[in-house]
Amino acid sequence: MRFRNLTRRREIGANCYLLEAGDERIIIDSGMHPKQAGNDALPDINGVPFDKANALLLSHAHHDHIGSLAVTQRRHPGAPVYMTEATGEIGSAMLHNSVNVMTKQREELGINEYPFFTHRELDQIRPLWSYQPINKRFGLADTAMDCTFHDAGHIIGSAGISIHENGKTFFYTGDVCFENQTISMAADFPKSHVDVMLMETTRGDFARPEGYTRKGEKEKLAALIRDTWAAGGSVLIPVFALGKTQEVLLMMHELHQLDLIPEMPLFMGGLSTKITVLYDQYSSKVRRNYAGFSLLDDIDILVASRRKKREITYQTRCIYALSSGMMSENTTSNVFAAKFLDNPRNSVAFVGYTDIDSPGYKVRHAKPGEKVTLDKRLPPVQVNCRVESFDFSAHATRETLLDYVKEVKPGKVILVHGDEPAQKWFEREINVALPGTEVMRPEPGKDVDIW
Ligand SMILES: [Zn+2]
Ligand SMILES: [Zn+2]
Repeated sequence: MRFRNLTRRREIGANCYLLEAGDERIIIDSGMHPKQAGNDALPDINGVPFDKANALLLSHAHHDHIGSLAVTQRRHPGAPVYMTEATGEIGSAMLHNSVNVMTKQREELGINEYPFFTHRELDQIRPLWSYQPINKRFGLADTAMDCTFHDAGHIIGSAGISIHENGKTFFYTGDVCFENQTISMAADFPKSHVDVMLMETTRGDFARPEGYTRKGEKEKLAALIRDTWAAGGSVLIPVFALGKTQEVLLMMHELHQLDLIPEMPLFMGGLSTKITVLYDQYSSKVRRNYAGFSLLDDIDILVASRRKKREITYQTRCIYALSSGMMSENTTSNVFAAKFLDNPRNSVAFVGYTDIDSPGYKVRHAKPGEKVTLDKRLPPVQVNCRVESFDFSAHATRETLLDYVKEVKPGKVILVHGDEPAQKWFEREINVALPGTEVMRPEPGKDVDIW
């Protein structure tokens, strides 16, 4: 069995991996790079011969794991695509949204190769999608390989993927979380019999502070919201449309039920609403906390806005959970922040990852009164409001991920989905803890034999 990383660099980019056993090939994930544009955003899909993949597999519906699916399917027209049902239904909404975003970027930025695919093509590739349940082994197309999905606890539908071949098991963690979030339950992963583990390393460069608890973090967020309410301001929580939005909505409900925050209108918009509708549709069908709870119907005090994104207007004493989480240009949170940050009564609460080049990162690290550029076409904005950060990550801490590796004791571990220092931390720690385990960081594009 050979493995190749089709992600172009060692980073959180366009995730895509190839497994090759003799003449059988499977491709795992087909992402799009969150920061690159045009062809640079694609994984190295031309590295796999045309029409030679037997099957495609998807771990979850985030853009960096499914964004280029239609392009990869076009190159392997007969290959079935396996995923959980929630990943497929939400993935479809994400990909249709991506067509709109790319079409706009073609007009505004002159990226001629966009859109990579059309709404029509997305409808045409769907008959090849095959929905599979969690914890049930199934055969992969016409190959000698079997597969099992395991709940990854990251977002709705997210799965770790076991590939069984010739008595051996390759296990891909995908993006994983080993703790309960508000909605997602902790991952339920295999504890033994893994020969090779392909592992995400997102948080490898970040040690969680002593004494951290998710409950304590929620209470700190509640205190910020109370203070802001008392000052007559509003709170902006930049969130990703898929996953973090729904976690935050339910968290606000929880905090209100506990009397930790006052009654305040809650706004969201655009793609987030579409994804939230799907979260609600699957609320009883997937393994999760608050089973059967409908975010859009059961949050009685806090009202989610179904209005379109640019129509969201500022009011005092409201909570705005707007995407994107990094305040990227041309997103609802970016546009909204331009008129929000200069008011000292307001607060911004960051609840997830912000890339160093993103506007969100600049706001997060701005000194009081400093001016930041949110959009290159517009004048900079003065940050007079309160800005605080909270750790509600949907990724495993490095400590819990390391504990998991120690428990499973795989023969080989392949490190991906993390920056260089993050991967180095895991490499060092696994070498110390498990001297019998080979730690691999294969160069992108290069084949390595794994068994
Ligand atoms: Zn993810
Ligand atoms: Zn990811």
